Amino acid sequence: MDRIQTQQVSMRVGLGYDSHRIEAGGLMILGGVVIEQGHHFVGHSDADVLLHAITDALLSGAGLPDIGQLFPNDLEENRGRDSAEMLGLAMAKVRQTGWDLVNLDCVVLLERPKISPVKSQMISRIAAILGVPEPLVGLKGKTGEGVGEVGRGELAVAHCVALLCKA
Ligand code: MG
Repeated sequence: MDRIQTQQVSMRVGLGYDSHRIEAGGLMILGGVVIEQGHHFVGHSDADVLLHAITDALLSGAGLPDIGQLFPNDLEENRGRDSAEMLGLAMAKVRQTGWDLVNLDCVVLLERPKISPVKSQMISRIAAILGVPEPLVGLKGKTGEGVGEVGRGELAVAHCVALLCKA
């Protein structure tokens, strides 16, 4: 059987993962939406853990450098940066490379607040940033069941898998 030639492959998968510490004060921004006041994710940018995982999944699928290489966290211009802007730029790079999104699926691990009341708002926002229909964006929220860093409300984690096709 012939081996699949790289140049003939018309679909690729990318996996993204991120985590950010949770501290008191400020605004918690997740999926491009403010989901809580009085706590925030700690990071150099706005620390949107979900958008960071999505960004890395897309970049990885297209064989591009990861979010830390494109938007270094030691650059002053990236301090407090809007992760939605970074995701939009990453999606543009993916399309320039000749790939487009088939679908993405995400899991967020967060003890509080609950994801369900804001889930559809986050899906709308992510779809708008990417310029794709909402049904292409899957999102699930899980708690840590009170166990570990997530369960104690110290850490938020996001996983994302993205399927890309040749445009
Ligand atoms: Mg991050």
